[in-house]
Amino acid sequence: MTDCIFCKIAHGEIPSKKVYDDAHVIAFLDINPANPGHTLVVPKKHSEDLTTIAEADLTKAIEVAKKIAIKLRENLHAEGVNIVQNNGRAAGQLVPHIHFHVIPRFQGDNVVITYQKVQISEQEMDGICAKLREEHRPAPPKRDLDLEF
Ligand code: 5GP
Ligand code: ZN
Repeated sequence: MTDCIFCKIAHGEIPSKKVYDDAHVIAFLDINPANPGHTLVVPKKHSEDLTTIAEADLTKAIEVAKKIAIKLRENLHAEGVNIVQNNGRAAGQLVPHIHFHVIPRFQGDNVVITYQKVQISEQEMDGICAKLREEHRPAPPKRDLDLEF
């Protein structure tokens, strides 16, 4: 992708604080870290998110995320590590080139990764469960009658 910031970093057109680099994956420090050592693991081949990346590229990226997590533990003495991977604007994805945040954690640090819990009835849960177990069915085309004016 010509206008993708992570493609440009992957191809060395924009500088980064690189911590790992091979033929398929690059890892570099996040410019706005949640904690010192916050690293982004990025497949070099452009894919937008988890739903479109090829399995082989995904496997290579998660293997590098593991290596970085071990480095954070051993070399930066992180007491824990979060992997965060956002898909879509609604999920907080700002850069539309798949990446894994590998975030070192320390007791009492100020990183907040959370969500509000919602109440869901057992009946709703059963409905959701059934939908998620179904084979994917494309949405039917909109009929003229459904059009909103
Ligand atoms: P997202 O919200 O898409 O999951 O996360 C994008 C991340 O990329 C953010 O944490 C942001 O700080 C980081 N980022 C955006 N632009 C650059 C850049 O040019 N260089 C580096 N190193 N990180 C970037
Ligand atoms: Zn890209």
